[in-house]
Amino acid sequence: MKTLLLGADGIDIAADIIRRGGIVGMPTETVYGLAASAFDTEAVAHIFEAKGRPQDNPLIVHIAEIGTLETLCAEVPEAARRIAERFWPGPLTMVFKKKPVVPDRVTAGMDTVAVRFTAHPVAQELIRKSGVPIAAPSANVSGYPSPTTAAHVMRDLDGKIDACIDGGECDCGVESTVVSMVGRPRLLRPGSVTLEQLSEIVPDITVDKAIRGEIADTERVSAPGMKYRHYAPSAPVVAVCGEASASAGYIASVMKDGELCICYDEFAGLFAGRPCVAYGSAKDKKALAHGVFSALREADRLSPSKIYVQCPDDGGVGLAVANRIKKAAGFNVVNV
Ligand code: AMP
Ligand code: MG
Repeated sequence: MKTLLLGADGIDIAADIIRRGGIVGMPTETVYGLAASAFDTEAVAHIFEAKGRPQDNPLIVHIAEIGTLETLCAEVPEAARRIAERFWPGPLTMVFKKKPVVPDRVTAGMDTVAVRFTAHPVAQELIRKSGVPIAAPSANVSGYPSPTTAAHVMRDLDGKIDACIDGGECDCGVESTVVSMVGRPRLLRPGSVTLEQLSEIVPDITVDKAIRGEIADTERVSAPGMKYRHYAPSAPVVAVCGEASASAGYIASVMKDGELCICYDEFAGLFAGRPCVAYGSAKDKKALAHGVFSALREADRLSPSKIYVQCPDDGGVGLAVANRIKKAAGFNVVNV
């Protein structure tokens, strides 16, 4: 299959591909998504195939108007409406009891559906022009770091998907925050909408334990995606947590020839002459979120034997950045 690389002026072509049952890479404010009609089970099956995604990992359904929520969801609690009011459109996904109209293929047989109203103008227009809700996971090969540019998508999926729309670099850089709204609100995946921000709207929100710790293969998890080694380059990754100069000092003292460090901008000088990728300032967690997946991909390209990563604390969007790094590390964490 030849994959068309489209500009933002190619939305009509992309919408036509989706209406005909094709799959298309699309920019969102979080990471690039791999889009198909949520109502077309064959197209949805092609998403799983192209990514090599485990069949039990459900997809997020993207909408471009709030009214579509009633089409997809059996119950929308009042708290969810307050969250939607504050954070939609935006980098936030909520999980609801689903209606039968949502195919089992999309939800991996679960009786719930994850819904997101993206703020990205290109994605919004693509959804509107396609005339259907769009099922879209991240547009990477499963297990590999999520794509934050069209070039990342093409590197992973060229020849396996019908098209990709190039909308430039993604703003947030980490995938959407996922909150279950079935019963008491529960954070299933941290993202750019932070736990602190959500707590202002729903003070009773809880945090799923999979976010901070490893999940045993046999354990049941609420968001099946959380149980897989994820976001990971080929080399083993070590997450180094602690105060910025302490984690940099630790890495500098243990790093051997052939190993690489992903560090904060401030410490690039410390690693001069050694393989090193800087991913943002220690003082700017949004910059770290923006840069973390690109840095993991760049590190992989340099084929090191091991990758050390300076890992921020859990405050604000740091929770999302630390979660992605620890998952890339298979929860191989050093606290300094
Ligand atoms: P991705 O598409 O790569 O952004 O991953 C989507 C995430 O949302 C995965 O971790 C899924 O397991 C999670 N997810 C999707 N649908 C549901 C659902 N119905 N219930 C819980 N988690 C879900
Ligand atoms: Mg993904």
